[in-house]
Amino acid sequence: MKNLWNNFDADTCRDDLLALRVYSSRLIGQNPDLVLHGGGNTSLKTSFTDIFGETQEVIYIKGSGWDLATIEVSGFSPVRLEVLIKLARFEFLSDADMVGAQRVAMLDQQAPNPSTEAILHAIIPFRFVDHTHADAVVTLSNTPSGEDRIRNLYGDRVLVVPYVMPGFELAKKVADLTRDIDWSVLEGIVLMSHGIFSFSNNAKESYERMIQLVSEAESNLKSRPDLGVVHGGIPLPELTELRLAVSRAAGKPMLAVFNGSPHHCGFAGRPDVESIACRGPLTPDHVIRTKRVPVIVGEDVSDAVTRYVQDYESYFTAFSSGNLTQLDPAPRWGIWKDGGTIAFGRTEREVTIIADIVHHTVQAIEDAERLGGWVALPESQIFAMEYWELEQAKLNRGRTELPFLGQVALVTGGASGIGRACVEHLAASGAQVVTLDKNPSVTSIYNGSSMYGIACDVTDPSAVTSAIEKAVLRYGGLDIVVNNAGIFSASASVENIDDAEWQRSLDINLTAAMYVIKKTVPYLRYGWNPAVVIVGSKNVAAPGRGAGAYSVAKAGLTQLGRIAALELANDGIRVNTVHPNAVFDTAMWTEEVLAIRAKQYGRTVEEYRASTLLGLEITSNHVASVVCAIAGTEFSRTTGAQVPVDGGTERVV
Ligand code: ZN
Repeated sequence: MKNLWNNFDADTCRDDLLALRVYSSRLIGQNPDLVLHGGGNTSLKTSFTDIFGETQEVIYIKGSGWDLATIEVSGFSPVRLEVLIKLARFEFLSDADMVGAQRVAMLDQQAPNPSTEAILHAIIPFRFVDHTHADAVVTLSNTPSGEDRIRNLYGDRVLVVPYVMPGFELAKKVADLTRDIDWSVLEGIVLMSHGIFSFSNNAKESYERMIQLVSEAESNLKSRPDLGVVHGGIPLPELTELRLAVSRAAGKPMLAVFNGSPHHCGFAGRPDVESIACRGPLTPDHVIRTKRVPVIVGEDVSDAVTRYVQDYESYFTAFSSGNLTQLDPAPRWGIWKDGGTIAFGRTEREVTIIADIVHHTVQAIEDAERLGGWVALPESQIFAMEYWELEQAKLNRGRTELPFLGQVALVTGGASGIGRACVEHLAASGAQVVTLDKNPSVTSIYNGSSMYGIACDVTDPSAVTSAIEKAVLRYGGLDIVVNNAGIFSASASVENIDDAEWQRSLDINLTAAMYVIKKTVPYLRYGWNPAVVIVGSKNVAAPGRGAGAYSVAKAGLTQLGRIAALELANDGIRVNTVHPNAVFDTAMWTEEVLAIRAKQYGRTVEEYRASTLLGLEITSNHVASVVCAIAGTEFSRTTGAQVPVDGGTERVV
């Protein structure tokens, strides 16, 4: 394990101990083999001068909810050291009393709640204390005779603590074990099946002890075999079916991210995968993210999820005492036999965290198997952690439920105009949005976590197929399709229509939409509240002179939508069409087109702009709002409808 300490960077903190605490905490946080996504915690003991000029001994402890990789000074809570040490003398302390007493002892009421390990940090008599869930140490401890292995490796340099629940119980245990101990001979503490502490009065020494101890554990693991370059795979229709089954079990739509890398494919192909993967998590801390075990999927996808749900319910019944409320019984990760692993989560961030934990878990299980076998904590211990009120509080903090959270949308022609507004509205409402556009800059416009662009000419069927497959694989399914890509042909009377222009209009406005619907239906069939929204035109009901190529294509598109609504209703897929008009903030409406259209209606450009019944201007955003509403649950009982977004048109009304 690499030592990342840099004297030059550390020196910039000078004598500012808190700045130094932030510096070395971040070094720990940026190594995923030490801590993952908010795991681990660090502290600093120092003095604090209050407004009376009186000095108090204080511990700055990582605030709950902060991530060591990105922590700042404000992420540490200053708590009176003396109070925490006194708390450790209680025989028993409830979680609520512990949190309450810690809050009262805080010297800055704006600071976050102190970590649940604050008392344990307080009783370790060193200025700097570092705590991680280092993979290598936990892996060694999760093997048969793991405790002997750890003792043989470290000798008297570390104190070995059997597994107990984190929080007060663990602090109490360490306090008991260290009552008459000579701390000066200790470099660290190993918590079986949980993690490791290092400490020193010097920030650098504490950090380097952590790196040293973990490196020794790493070199004790047998080297990993070369897995070659075989990549796994999963059939996409089955992936979407699995995602829907998991979403139904959760009672809300989930994203599903597949990992078929050689390592994961190799793991999923092991004949003993079912046994080793279902023994329990790497560390109990992970259970709130990953649940205790994965779903194992072989042949029958929904059967596997049904069995998982039944097993979860039995596990809850077996260990729940009285007033606990069962969490949703859906799995958070799965193994696709011979293919790879899948992570399930509500948001891209959540699914990424789970995928990372799964990656480290798979590695740890295989490492432990090479050392004689993977041993996890008993179900009862995992249950206690999963339903620990302090852990549950971490998950629910600040979560706002956006209407499309967990849903996946595909928008064609989304790089500009109405399409772009649709992409932005859907993403702002919580959806993961994949955008197809002919404009290659679509990949740079949308490269964020909730918006992803694919350059694709929708008139090319094979390009459409591969873009849709890419979108489905990225998030595990598809729920909403907005068929928006279109062009407005140059104005020409029927007598003067250019053959090529006519064909181009049909190709883009009509045939491409047919490809997109045709190719997305197999996935929408397993979508959550699946919906297709077609962007038509006012011209369908009220055509204008000179717009033949455009109006005929849009009329065909509308008819396609009506037929699709009839054919797909049995699958629960709704198909509706919006008919915008006079949306002048799109690229279609150049000054030139505007002038021509105004002239055709015998109006000035200004008159033409405001020529709606309501006299109101219509923007791309207005259309996008209606598209979102139709795709959402408010319209769950509407299909085959045509909704104008035109400010009212006399010839249509
Ligand atoms: Zn811990």
